[in-house]
Amino acid sequence: MPSKNLVQGEKGLLCPKCSHLNPGGLKQCEYCNSQLFVKCKKCGAKVQRVISKCPECRHRMHKSPFRKLKRRMFRRSKKLTFGQTAIMVIVAYGAYKMITMAAGKF
Ligand SMILES: [Zn+2]
Ligand SMILES: [Zn+2]
Repeated sequence: MPSKNLVQGEKGLLCPKCSHLNPGGLKQCEYCNSQLFVKCKKCGAKVQRVISKCPECRHRMHKSPFRKLKRRMFRRSKKLTFGQTAIMVIVAYGAYKMITMAAGKF
């Protein structure tokens, strides 16, 4: 994952496709020729493709591979919470049954 201090001119530009670290000032990746910048649809600012949010207006950038990855991870975690909820319901139901049975005995 790219760090926040990885801005143009400092350490270089990280390619969103091949993760090659390009020297600052380049518009295209020197390794795979893919575009390093994308124009913000809201304010028109030139934003690095590895950044998912526009630093100028905080508009969410599309076509970001990291955003896709985040979405995939979020989906997976959602499934996990659903499974956890199902298990909790079953356990709660079992505990309820046991409590009612114990209550009936005494
Ligand atoms: Zn590249
Ligand atoms: Zn913007």
